[in-house]
Amino acid sequence: MPFCPECRYEYLPEITQCPDCGSELVHELPEIRLQNQDVKWKSLPPVPGMVYAKMVTEVLDQREIPNYIQSLFGGGGLGVVTGGDFPGASAKIYVPEDFLAEAMAIRDEMMKEI
Ligand SMILES: [Zn+2]
Repeated sequence: MPFCPECRYEYLPEITQCPDCGSELVHELPEIRLQNQDVKWKSLPPVPGMVYAKMVTEVLDQREIPNYIQSLFGGGGLGVVTGGDFPGASAKIYVPEDFLAEAMAIRDEMMKEI
């Protein structure tokens, strides 16, 4: 899966340029792999779009919780059009297992405010 080297988001294979910042996508983010070889990544429940995912990861970053976002594009039969940057898109945030409970609480708190 291609990643944006700037935003660290993961995209579908057919995407070559980051829709968010315009960077050319790369095939892997070496430092993430190296740094987290022993880390078990767990996903939080999907949020409705990259905009929300970024709001959550901003807070995760502030708390120094490692994270990455996987964008899930619509068309899988979800049939939900959100206010996100891609109609029907949702995004999943991954955090190391050790931080899951904390990240989950942050995510729930932020989704409540929408
Ligand atoms: Zn980007």
